[in-house]
Amino acid sequence: MKSLWVFHVNTGACNGCDIEILDVLIPYYDIERLGVKLVPTPRHAHALLVTGPLTRQAYHAAKMAYEAMPPKPRIVIAVGTCACSGGIFHDSYALRREYRESLEYPLKGGTSEFLPVHLYIPGCPPRPEEILYGIALLKNIVEKKVRGELFREGTFVLPRESFNAWVEVLLRARIRKELGYFDGYSLLRRFMELVESSESKEELEKLVEKTINDEGDSRLRYGLEKLYSYYLEVVRTYEGILAAKRALVGLPK
Ligand code: SF4
Repeated sequence: MKSLWVFHVNTGACNGCDIEILDVLIPYYDIERLGVKLVPTPRHAHALLVTGPLTRQAYHAAKMAYEAMPPKPRIVIAVGTCACSGGIFHDSYALRREYRESLEYPLKGGTSEFLPVHLYIPGCPPRPEEILYGIALLKNIVEKKVRGELFREGTFVLPRESFNAWVEVLLRARIRKELGYFDGYSLLRRFMELVESSESKEELEKLVEKTINDEGDSRLRYGLEKLYSYYLEVVRTYEGILAAKRALVGLPK
């Protein structure tokens, strides 16, 4: 079922549960994104949502609402402890009890005493998240909407491209001071190409050494040496931070 149209009936609730029903409709929880919509008449409803214990006064109205619903799927949802079992009102004089034994569904009290309840969402009142979860269970979309994941701090490693972009930003400020904007930036670009093309520290060391030896301009040679030493410094700092984080959460180095 893609959408679920719901008719809400209060069979004697203290209003706590009704306020939580309103909560799930606000943009923060936005239950309509699950295809759930409150309708003003039971004639258009797939589901009857009941809050509160079954009081004598509300019994006939709730029964009429249930019978006015289309015959299929006629889902009944009990929200709140009172609707589920009678709750704090279980022994109240206002509750209907004379037909308990003869009713079609004489179960544990609350809504199920007179209607076949498909979904119980207990709580006094249940939190909006619980209502959302219950509806998602009913619609069989929990797997789709909820993904369990164990978060472990320290397992994060900066992707290579992002790491290089981060290093470039740090080196840019330093090389600008050494060689100025124009020469500094163009040399940095050359250096970053070496970084991106090498697979390991050793390979980078050899590449940098070769580039320095091949370079005729002593100013650029000096700049390359500086860039390489700054690069090693940044990598060491990054590795130190990672090691400290791993130690903090007890992960192997
Ligand atoms: S379950 Fe709690 S909040 Fe909901 S109607 Fe009953 S007493 Fe009120």
